[in-house]
Amino acid sequence: MKNKKNSWLRNIVETLCRKLEKSILKDKALKCKVVYGPVRSRRLGLVLGINNVKPGICSYNCIYCQSGKTSCCSICTNNCLSPYELFVSVKNKIEEIKKMGKNIDYILFAGSGDPAIDTSLSQEIQLLREFDYKIAVFTNSALLWNENIQENLMYADYVSLKIDTANEETWLKINRPHERLKYDLILKGIEQFSKKFRGTLTTETMLIKNFNDNENEIKQLGNFLNTLKRNASYFMTPIYPPAEKYAVSPDEDTLKKLSEIIKTNVPNSMMLCCPDKEEFFTTDDFENELLGLLELHPVNEEAVTTFAKANDKIDILQGLLANKLIEKSIFANKKYYKLAETK
Ligand code: SF4
Repeated sequence: MKNKKNSWLRNIVETLCRKLEKSILKDKALKCKVVYGPVRSRRLGLVLGINNVKPGICSYNCIYCQSGKTSCCSICTNNCLSPYELFVSVKNKIEEIKKMGKNIDYILFAGSGDPAIDTSLSQEIQLLREFDYKIAVFTNSALLWNENIQENLMYADYVSLKIDTANEETWLKINRPHERLKYDLILKGIEQFSKKFRGTLTTETMLIKNFNDNENEIKQLGNFLNTLKRNASYFMTPIYPPAEKYAVSPDEDTLKKLSEIIKTNVPNSMMLCCPDKEEFFTTDDFENELLGLLELHPVNEEAVTTFAKANDKIDILQGLLANKLIEKSIFANKKYYKLAETK
């Protein structure tokens, strides 16, 4: 009798869960904006990306941002999907990826805002452990002064911290932070976190012409980075059209000089100046998955067109162009698709 009752209850719960999962997955556009990829990451391999922060909201408004200008500079917590909704969306996506015969290396929280602003981050990471993939978070570090945010990040296997400079004036110019943020507290928080985090900790610095591409800047940054317990420090240059046209890569000669200064002053550092391998593919929903990815950054035109031609999606691609949802753009002599400005 007891067994019968248990299996009746289990059936009801399973039916309810299936209904809930279906309704969550119904909003394909939202699902594709939050869970994107898989995409190739220069540091992590093939990753399934999660961008659970509302579009246009960030605690910074970086001049080089590849997602465009921040429309709402905020330090208030926000997220798009609840932890369970996110779990279902990721589960569904992983099943699709497996059906395609692909395998991912990481689940990565990164996107058009700071993933650390989502207060459910630790809960989400714990739920996603079910899939047995390593979990990484790329944060802009703006909230690292807050110990609760530090605690949330402790759940990840890999954390990348954005530190473009150790100089407050340069920080104000490059990252254009929310007015209530204080850089000395952020740097202190970063140092504190680096001492207690048990996973792989890296830092990333974007080098921008005429802002942080001089010897003093790098030496000052190196002094700070050397106080951290970190595995590696990556230096990069903008590879996608930036929020501000003037936020461009230092010229080649400067980069060569900087590379020597970095090598001497920052042990375990690496320049990541070559773009990611230009690769693009979608699982079941070409249109929404492409639009979801374009919310984050422009995508290489040739990679998208090649995929669309090979998979009978060229009409959809042309439709998106004709309806002015996407447009072509050129940056550093490379052609991209990006979301149309008028959208
Ligand atoms: S680059 Fe990152 S931190 Fe800077 S504004 Fe864009 S999303 Fe925010």
